[in-house]
Amino acid sequence: LKRAKANGGTELYQPRAFDLARQQFTIETCLRRAIEAERLTLAYQPVIELQTGEISGFEALARWREDGVDIAPSTFIPVAEESGLILPLGRWALDEATRTLRAWDRRAGMTLPVRMAVNVSAIQVTRDDVPAMLEEAARVHNVAPERLVLELTESAIVADPDRAAKAMEAIRSVGATIALDDFGTGYSNLAYLQRLPIDALKIDQSFVTGMLGDRDKVAIVRAVLSLAEALGLRTTAEGVETLELSQTLAALGCTRAQGYFYAAPLDAEAAYAYWSRSNSAAT
Ligand code: C2E
Ligand code: MG
Ligand code: MG
Ligand code: MG
Repeated sequence: LKRAKANGGTELYQPRAFDLARQQFTIETCLRRAIEAERLTLAYQPVIELQTGEISGFEALARWREDGVDIAPSTFIPVAEESGLILPLGRWALDEATRTLRAWDRRAGMTLPVRMAVNVSAIQVTRDDVPAMLEEAARVHNVAPERLVLELTESAIVADPDRAAKAMEAIRSVGATIALDDFGTGYSNLAYLQRLPIDALKIDQSFVTGMLGDRDKVAIVRAVLSLAEALGLRTTAEGVETLELSQTLAALGCTRAQGYFYAAPLDAEAAYAYWSRSNSAAT
């Protein structure tokens, strides 16, 4: 981690093959301590309703800063998944995001009309009791479970389809909704879309960002939108970085959008201020 700091970047240096195991072990050790000491934080990115421009909710994203260096989720989430640390990390994220939503309600003196989305790893679905965790977070923080969204990836379904189906049914019966994250990047059989209780598809940013200059990406996004419409699913486009892109997606019938055009992931304070500004602009 020292070398990453010397580079001043947010990403760790590119390791040589023989360094990989040692680097992984170092990250794992530091990450374990960071989780135990509750030094991870969450950033909250607004999700916008494309037809109205209103905030539909926020997505909670884990952040880890070590010795003044930001370590990207693309570096530490895979390590957390391989080491099993994703279980305590995932429990913490669900609890913390729910606690923050309740803190915003108190501060506003009302129940914010927004949902909070939390990312759930495939390993959590197979090795933890996600529906029970969800129920507990909602109860402890006195938040209606209907305001919580769990973002799962296709890998959770591929890993153990029966268990994923049971978990999803249970999540739904608690009252929360399910969004399928990074849609289009996995390798699963599309038939599950019809069988499983999925509420929304999140179209991966690799298809969205830069789609305006790329006919193939436009074709993929259109196909996903029409598939979703036929199946009665909502859609969220990730990685919306420009006004033009947000307008095009709205015209194509996409339900929601998320990306730097609206806001980057924000700390809890800035996210609340974003909601508060947008709420007073609307009234
Ligand atoms: P994701 O769930 O697909 O989250 C969206 C990612 O896109 C986030 O990256 C976000 O910061 C980034 N992003 C948002 N708007 C834009 C944009 O306009 N352009 C571009 N290029 N990127 C944008 P981040 O925060 O680095 O997280 C990466 C991934 O790490 C997440 O992808 C998610 O799969 C995983 N992750 C983050 N936090 C958690 C967590 O608490 N639990 C689990 N299991 N996974 C997490
Ligand atoms: Mg996500
Ligand atoms: Mg995603
Ligand atoms: Mg993604």
